[in-house]
Amino acid sequence: MTIAVLRERATGESRVAATPETVRKLSALGAKLVVESGAGKGAGISDDDFQAAGAAIASADVAAGAQIVLGVQGPDPALLAGAAPGAWIVAGLDPFGQRARVDAYAAAGLEALAMEFMPRITRAQSMDILSSQANLAGYKAVLVAANLYGRAFPMMMTAAGTVSAAKAFIMGVGVAGLQAIATARRLGAQVSATDVRSATKEQIQSLGAKPIFVENVAGIEGEGAGGYATEMSPEYQKAQAELVSSHIAKQDIVITTALIPGRAAPRLISDAQIATMRPGSVIYDLAVAQGGNVEGSVADQVVERHGVKIVGYANTPALLPADASALFSRNLFNFLSAFWDKEQGRPVLDEEIGNAIRLTQGGQVVHERLKG
Ligand code: NAD
Repeated sequence: MTIAVLRERATGESRVAATPETVRKLSALGAKLVVESGAGKGAGISDDDFQAAGAAIASADVAAGAQIVLGVQGPDPALLAGAAPGAWIVAGLDPFGQRARVDAYAAAGLEALAMEFMPRITRAQSMDILSSQANLAGYKAVLVAANLYGRAFPMMMTAAGTVSAAKAFIMGVGVAGLQAIATARRLGAQVSATDVRSATKEQIQSLGAKPIFVENVAGIEGEGAGGYATEMSPEYQKAQAELVSSHIAKQDIVITTALIPGRAAPRLISDAQIATMRPGSVIYDLAVAQGGNVEGSVADQVVERHGVKIVGYANTPALLPADASALFSRNLFNFLSAFWDKEQGRPVLDEEIGNAIRLTQGGQVVHERLKG
C-alpha cells in the first residue's frame, strides 16, 4: 500500500496533507509513504523532516503506483496519471466548485473521496476537516480584523486617559463563529453574536457574549439536518435585516461566518448598513469564497466602503499553515486508520461514511448530490 502526498499547487495554498507525525503513524499501519519534494515548505516542514519520519521523497511521478493520494485541495488530474487503478483521492475536493475535476477523476477510474462531505456524526468528529479548519479561521479572522482596526480591543485606563473597549459582532455561530467569539473576548472586546439556529443562543451566552436574535419570526429550532442551516423565509430575512440594521451601527468589528451547505452564502450585510457604521470599523467576511455575507467584499483584498474596511481571505486557514496542516493531516490519518483492515493492508469503508464522501467510482460520478 503506497500513499502519495502531493505538493499543493493552488495559489495561496500553504498547507500540506501530511506531517512527520502522520507519516510515522501511517507507516506504522504498514503503508509506504511518498512525499513530493517541497510539499511541506509552506508549513515549515522540510523534505528532511519527512524523510526522517520514514517517507520517501520524490520530485516527479509522485503518484506513480499509489493506491491512495492525499491532498489538502483536489490535485490536478494530470498529476495522477500513474496512480494505481481505482486509487483513492482523499482531499477537500470542492465538489460543486470543481465539478470538471471530479468528472476527470471519474474518467480516469479514480475513487475521489471528498473529505468536506464527512457526515457530522460523533464517530466522524475527528475526521472533520471543515471543523478543524473553521476553528482556526475563526481565530485568525479576529486577529486580521484587529490588525486593520485603528483602535485597541480592550478597555484601558491610562494616565493619558481611557481607551474604550471595541464592540465586536459575530454573525453565524458555527465552529468558526464560536472561536471568533472566544478570541474577541480574550482580546477584551465586548462581544455580541447572532445565528438562525436557536441552539446557538446558549453557546453564545456560555462564552460571555450577548445573543442578538430575531424573536418575532421563528428561526431553526434544535439542530436541524446535521446541525446545518437552511435558506430562511423572506419574512425571516426581512426581520433579520431590520435587526442587523439597528445593531450594526454601534459595532466596531463584525465577523461574518454564515454558510448554507451546497448554496451561495446568505447575504447578511448591505452597503446601506455599512454606511451607518463608524468610519474605521472593520468587517471580516469569512464566507467571501462562497459568495460572501457582505455586499462589496472581494476575496483577498481590503475594500474600503464609507470609511469601513471590508476584508476576507478566500483561504483563511492557509494563514496558519503549520497548525492548519497538523490538524488537517490528523483528520486524514484518523479517517484512514479508523477504516484500516489489517488483513487486507488497506482501508475499507463502511456504507454510511463511504456513501457520504464517495464522489466517483468505476468510471462514474456516483454521489447523489452531484447526479441529475
Ligand atoms: P456552517 O459553516 O455551515 O455555517 C456557519 C454558521 O452560520 C452556522 O451556525 C449557521 O447556522 C449560520 N448561518 C447560516 N445562515 C445564517 C444566516 N442567514 N444568519 C445567521 N447565521 C446563519 O456551520 P458549521 O460551523 O459547519 O457548524 C454547523 C453545525 O454543525 C453546528 O451546530 C456544529 O456544532 C455542528 N457540528 C457537528 C459536528 C459533529 O457532530 N461531528 C462537527 C462539526 C460541527
